[in-house]
Formats: sequence, structure tokens, C-alpha cells
Amino acid sequence: MTNLRTTKDWQAADSAHFLHPFTDFASLAKKGSRIITKAEGIYLWDSEGHKILDAMSGLWCVNVGYGQQSLIDAATRQMKELPFYNAFFQTATPPAIELAELLAEVTPPQFKHVFYSSSGSESNDTIVRMVRRYWDVLGQPERQVIIGRHNGYHGSTMAGASLGGMSGMHAQGGLPIPNIVHIQQPYAFEHGKGMDPDAFGKLAASWLEEKILAVGPEKVAAFIGEPVQGAGGVIVPPKSYWPEIQRICDKYGILLVSDEVICGFGRTGNWFGCETMGSKPDLMTFAKGVTSGYVPLGGVMVGERVAKVLIEQGGEFNHGYTYSGHPVACAVAVANIKLIQQLKLVEHVREDVGPYLAEQFAGLRDHPLVGSVDTCGLMGAILLVKDKAKGLPFPGDLEVGMVCRGHCFGNGLIMRAVGDRMIIAPPLVMTRSQIDEMMALIRQALDLTL
Ligand code: PLP
Repeated sequence: MTNLRTTKDWQAADSAHFLHPFTDFASLAKKGSRIITKAEGIYLWDSEGHKILDAMSGLWCVNVGYGQQSLIDAATRQMKELPFYNAFFQTATPPAIELAELLAEVTPPQFKHVFYSSSGSESNDTIVRMVRRYWDVLGQPERQVIIGRHNGYHGSTMAGASLGGMSGMHAQGGLPIPNIVHIQQPYAFEHGKGMDPDAFGKLAASWLEEKILAVGPEKVAAFIGEPVQGAGGVIVPPKSYWPEIQRICDKYGILLVSDEVICGFGRTGNWFGCETMGSKPDLMTFAKGVTSGYVPLGGVMVGERVAKVLIEQGGEFNHGYTYSGHPVACAVAVANIKLIQQLKLVEHVREDVGPYLAEQFAGLRDHPLVGSVDTCGLMGAILLVKDKAKGLPFPGDLEVGMVCRGHCFGNGLIMRAVGDRMIIAPPLVMTRSQIDEMMALIRQALDLTL
């Protein structure tokens, strides 16, 4: 029986056969993976029986927490009734239709249509196809260029990784693909030291206008950004940033794409991050939180501006995936969204645990390693600095984050390190007392890192 294997057996089979994503294969083979075997609520257990508080919701996705029976029941019911049928060739299934209706209800009013995929990366691939198709149909095929941001993350496919601005990814595989360019991220610690936040937000947004003018406005198709950069280190932009980005996109008629793969489904205290940040995107990509990660599903919400053109003038859109609108994934998404509504998780984040987390994180500012803290809803970052008084960062390899992450792990807490930023995005069902428990573990890890 496989579940009677020892941890060492699992690790041996793992390193013999399994190439993990974003992993140095050789070094993992030496260390061995931590084998996660079960989960409940906000906790995981490993194969050695250790209980771990999962402050990353898996990979920013388990918004409703682990073990939710209504999602499990929805998957079981749908698998029995109709485990698969596609949405090609003029067919549809009830869960895919029901979810489309529900998404139109919970997303901002400009969205009435959805195009399904199975992941965030695929959704962002679809964006490249869709925005270029939109401009083609409008008779402006020269509008090809999409502008993303340094340190943005939009997935790992060729197009997703190109839209993103991760230098490590661009260093491999000949990325970015043509006609994708980037502007600097709105990271005050690096680019706006000592500036008034409002002024810095406007300055960072002005880099978009500079880029549009450098490329030529008639060639720019779209701008894409995460409301809060997640994988880049939970970079919360100043309040002035997104409204100014919106103004610039409007000025040049450029499509605005909000990548809501992390920020969607309650993470920032509204259903979608663009609502928290004050923008009105033409397109939104989503994944992760739509099913709370229980099964893979992603998609693009298509605003009326784009939908009208594609529907009324576009003809056949030669794009789609076998699993676009997978009935089991859609059934789980419907159950997940209904559970978010029933548990009032968006309000819970906005009015209760989000402000409480902000208060608790602010309390970390007195720690000698902590240079600054940021939160937005139920995501947060702690910047570790070498010299607090002078605000000096750790140099070079930024080993410090990995050391701190190791102490978290050893203490039963999953936090992620992005260079010198320690980040969290716990399940939205988290309570105040669970935040207290997490904060005690974070303080211990910071003390051990000193
Ligand atoms: N977009 C954002 C903002 C993400 O954070 C991610 C993944 O972390 C993706 C896209 C890619 O999603 P996936 O890994 O489901 O392809």
C-alpha cells in the first residue's frame, strides 16, 4: 500500500522520477522533499506527522481553506453525472453555464462574458491572442505590443512568462517573445525612497506613458498588471497608482488587463483586486481562488468593450483548450463561489481579519530585522533589512529570506521568501486567533534569523 511508505521511500521515489517546477533538481534530490499528506482548515500535515500552518494557501489559492465538504460533494456529484464534456462544436454543460452566470454576477459590471482555461498561465496566453484579435478585427493590426512590468508574474507558458517580468525566467528559453515590453514596478523601497506615496504612485504610472510614447501609441494593444504584485513580493502600490494607470490607458485607447489570478475571489477585501485598487479593466484573468485550488480552472473575463467587437464582428475565434469549461472544475467553482458568499468571506477579509492583520504586521516594525511591512486584505510582506537605521538592504544573494523561510518551516509555518521579502497569503477563512498564532511563529522565525 502506497500510504504505508516511509518518508524516505517517498523521497527516493520522488527524486528518482519527479521533476518539480521552479526547482534545482540536483539540490532537491540531495535534500529530499517534504511530503505533505493531508490538510484541514488552514493546516497541513507532513508524512512525519508535523502540523503546519499554511500561511500561503498552497500557492495563493486555497481561499476557502482545506476540507470544505460542499466542494468535495460538488466534484463527486459532477464526476458521477458527467465527468467530462467539451465546449467545442456548439456544445455546453450545465456547470460551465451556471458558473458563467455566477461570474457575471460577482465580477464588476462591465463583465458579462467568460472564456475558460485551466490555469493562470493559459488565461494570460489567451489574453495575448484575444487582445491582438480585437485590434485586428477593428482594422488596427499594427496594435501588437503588450506592456507588462518588471517583476510581474503572469505564468510559465511562453506568453505568460513573456508578459511577466521575472529576469530569471527571461534568462532561459529565449524570452520574452516579440512585441512584449516592460516598465518598472511601483516598488517604493527601491524606486521611490523618501517620496510622498501619492507622488510616487503617479511617478510610477508615468513610466507607462513614457513607454507608450517610446513604442508609439498606435502600436500598443494593452497593458497588463496584477493589482498587487504577488510572486514579485507582495508589492502594494500607492493608492494613486492604478487610477493614474487607468487614466493613461484611457487617454491612448489601450486595453487594460487586470491579472486577478492571486487578487481575485476576496484576497484583497473585495471580490477582485481592481475594485480595491480603483481601476476598471477591459479584461481580467483569473484562476487559483475560483476553485480554491481544489481542481484546476482559469479563465478570462471579457468586458463589454472587447466582447461586443469579438461577438458582433469577430467571426470564429481560433483558440481554445480541451478543458475550457471542464464540467467538474466548473461545478467545484460554483460551490466555491457560493461558499465564499455564504461565509461572507469577502466582508470577513475587508472588515475583520484584513484590518487585524494590518495591525499585527504594523507591530513587527519594532523588530530589528524589519525594514517595512505591507498588507492588502489577507496578503502581506515583511521587508528584511540589514541596517534598519539606515534602511540598507541585504546585499547580493539575499540569502536572508531563505534562512528566515527555513526557520518558519522548522517551526511549523509556511511563509514564502522573495529575496528579502517574507510574504504571506493565508486562507481567507483564517480567524483572529489563528492570526495571533501565525504572528507568534513569525516573530520566532525573525528572532532566529537575527
Ligand atoms: N498570474 C499570476 C498573478 C500568478 O500569481 C500566477 C501564478 O502564481 C499565474 C498568473 C500563473 O498561474 P498558473 O500557475 O495557474 O498557470
